[in-house]
Amino acid sequence: TIVIGVLALQGAFVEHIHYLQKLRPHGHTIKAIPIRTLSELEQCQALVIPGGESTVISSIASHTPGLLEALIEFARNPAKAVWGTCAGMILMADVDGIGGGRKKMVKGWEGIGGMKVWRNLYGTQLESFESPLTIPSLSNPSKPFNAIFIRAPAVHSLSPQIQVEVVAQLPEQFLPPPPPSDSPLGEPNLDDLGKVWLKKGKKMVTSFHPELSGDVRVHEFWVEKCVLGR
Ligand code: GLN
Repeated sequence: TIVIGVLALQGAFVEHIHYLQKLRPHGHTIKAIPIRTLSELEQCQALVIPGGESTVISSIASHTPGLLEALIEFARNPAKAVWGTCAGMILMADVDGIGGGRKKMVKGWEGIGGMKVWRNLYGTQLESFESPLTIPSLSNPSKPFNAIFIRAPAVHSLSPQIQVEVVAQLPEQFLPPPPPSDSPLGEPNLDDLGKVWLKKGKKMVTSFHPELSGDVRVHEFWVEKCVLGR
């Protein structure tokens, strides 16, 4: 049995648990458990950080004894599989920024390495959208994956020194406006803006919500490539 934790402080964690429980990778059984404490985190081999509100998730984690430090350590340990979706992607960044005149910079957990993200770049909740993504390495690759974006972050820039695999890019017509170039995050890299699904070793981030699409293939991909490491 593979024990996979889903951080359950706030956001769309129940859906991840349901999707993961459906999988039987190579005959393994998956036990997906909600994580709210340090001792629960210590029981799991791999971790999903769900979408929701990154500021709320990190605030609750910082008020739970030992949890935030252990999450950061888990995120940075190359031996542990971690997947961050949407708010989870923001937490996996080195730093994140946000517009609205505040141009604030917040330090992330550095789970990917060299990734800066810009929060809410696609707009408000009302500007949520869906985009089909075609990914050759998914099972049944001729069927596009319907990716759902809800107040999603975008990649501001990736470090040219760090090797990251781009699994999916957003079609041109859905690209967000560029983040400002005079923020504390520095100059954005416009070629990175549409990179909505990245993988580096056992780490993965998606700026969309695969747990809302009624399609388990992104979960299947992460378990196969990052958790089992095939
Ligand atoms: N905008 C949210 C944040 O900043 C993320 C939205 C989401 O996870 N759907 O955390």
